[in-house]
Amino acid sequence: MTAQIINGKELVQSIREEIKQDVQSMANQGKQPGLAVVLVGDDPASAVYVRNKAKACEEVGIYSEVHKLPAETSESELLTMIGQLNKDDRIHGILVQLPLPKHIHEETVIDSISVHKDVDCFHPVNVGNLMVGKDGLLPCTPSGVIQILKRLEIPVAGKHAVVIGRSNIVGKPMAMLLLRENATVTVCHSRTKDLTEITKQADILVAAIGRAKMIKKEHVKDGAVVIDVGMNRDEAGKLCGDVDLEDVRDTASYVTPVPGCVGPMTITMLLQNTLQAARQTGSYVSAE
Ligand code: NDP
Repeated sequence: MTAQIINGKELVQSIREEIKQDVQSMANQGKQPGLAVVLVGDDPASAVYVRNKAKACEEVGIYSEVHKLPAETSESELLTMIGQLNKDDRIHGILVQLPLPKHIHEETVIDSISVHKDVDCFHPVNVGNLMVGKDGLLPCTPSGVIQILKRLEIPVAGKHAVVIGRSNIVGKPMAMLLLRENATVTVCHSRTKDLTEITKQADILVAAIGRAKMIKKEHVKDGAVVIDVGMNRDEAGKLCGDVDLEDVRDTASYVTPVPGCVGPMTITMLLQNTLQAARQTGSYVSAE
């Protein structure tokens, strides 16, 4: 079997086109969704992510503003800024780019974001809503993965999905969303024994590990769908995933490439969440 390398670009383009049309119909009613991105410090990778998010907003007509704060910003200064954004009618989504400098408590900052503007879906209330299956904002990377499966009409119900990784940002919510789609879900992590034995049973394998090209053909069942969330640098400093694509391409049925699939899909879900948050608040400021 030769795997189909999923064309993330095409998928992302078609979803962003739909979002653009929805933003346009909102604009026709004098409304515009708005996203505020807060970046503390000068981590170069974070700066690139923030730039990409702002650019994506612009492409679909979402208003965005980037607040760049110096690394020595105090926690209380950051909380004050978030408090202002929480009250700002022009802003429907607030995203604080992680990681934050060590002297700032991530949890305190996340908890201070209005639940209705938490477009990353990191706030414990939104995480709780996800757990109990209530409607609401969904975390961007895992919901992007579900979108990929849905758009390609890959069946999930009744399938065995194995998620490698149990972080709050990716692994845990990924497992919950797959469960919502009626998959039978197994979660693996660094203390899992016989990882290969478990991953080899997966119809759908999601790698969210953070280890360059760790997943090889011996981890993959014949015909499995392999979703690579990882974003790492290889020995040459080149961006790569957790999956060794060349090694698994004769075993898997579908594989997502890195870069170019889960990453841009994550940003697309951020746009989707900002639009959804704008729809739900009911308070808008006129688009210029
Ligand atoms: P974390 O480091 O928070 O979590 C990694 C998880 O992998 C942990 O649960 C860890 O287990 C597990 N793990 C580590 N080593 C092994 C191993 N040898 N065998 C089995 N499990 C292992 O990372 P994130 O979840 O934040 O991110 C994961 C990857 O996804 C990273 O490469 C990150 O850059 C990328 N990412 C990509 C995004 C995108 O938009 N494409 C968005 C977010 C992340 P344990 O819990 O036991 O330590």
